[in-house]
Amino acid sequence: MDDCIFCKIIEGSIPSRKVYENDDCYAFLDIFPANRGHTLVIPKKHSKDIHDTDPETYAKVAHAAKIVADLLREKLDSDGTTIFQMSKEAGWQTVFHLHMHVIPRWNEDGLHKPWDIAPATEDELEEVSRLIRG
Ligand SMILES: [Zn+2]
Repeated sequence: MDDCIFCKIIEGSIPSRKVYENDDCYAFLDIFPANRGHTLVIPKKHSKDIHDTDPETYAKVAHAAKIVADLLREKLDSDGTTIFQMSKEAGWQTVFHLHMHVIPRWNEDGLHKPWDIAPATEDELEEVSRLIRG
């Protein structure tokens, strides 16, 4: 993908601060971090998002994210971790090369939850459950 900035990061034509790398994935510091150590994990093989990729590639990204999460927890002495994987514009994706955000968390770090929670009704749960199951 000639115009993909994450493909350019993998090939090295755009610099990045590497956190972790294996045969299939590359992880680097997000230059717009939500928190200290915020890392992006990407597959070396270009795919746009969770819907565009194959299950094996997605599993490799998740596998690398687990390794990165443990690395950040150990090295930065964080108290927890938040993982985000956003797909398509409706899912808040802004760079269209599949990526997983690994965000170290500390107690009282002041980050906000992205949505407010409220209980569903039994009718809502039953309706959507029927739609999903077919
Ligand atoms: Zn790409």
